[in-house]
Amino acid sequence: MSDCIFCKIANKEMDSEIVYEDENIIAFKDVNPQAPVHLLIIPKKHIESVMDFEDKDSELISKIFFVAQKLAQEFDVHESGFRIVNNCGKEGGQTVNHVHFHLLGKRSLTWPPG
Ligand code: 5GP
Ligand code: ZN
Repeated sequence: MSDCIFCKIANKEMDSEIVYEDENIIAFKDVNPQAPVHLLIIPKKHIESVMDFEDKDSELISKIFFVAQKLAQEFDVHESGFRIVNNCGKEGGQTVNHVHFHLLGKRSLTWPPG
């Protein structure tokens, strides 16, 4: 997807503060952080949203959560607690149509969200 900003970040055509990378996944700091720790974890390949996951993506999806676990440890929120968020679709608040998981921490997060 040539006009997708997260594809551009994954392809290093656009700068970001990368905090994790492997063959299939990349994680970087959110440009407009909503908490002292605000990371985005994405598959490198373009998948629009959770609704576009396919059976063949199951290993990739699972790995994303293990990356979140590793980053929670690295960013020292594993004991204080943190939140993993996926916004899906218009009413879910998704603004970038390349599936991504937010990892937020280092502040007290309220529930339910607005
Ligand atoms: P969404 O609202 O789709 O769940 O979240 C999109 C997130 O991507 C937002 O938190 C927004 O701040 C972040 N974002 C949008 N554009 C960029 C960018 O160019 N670089 C980075 N690092 N984050 C971005
Ligand atoms: Zn993309």
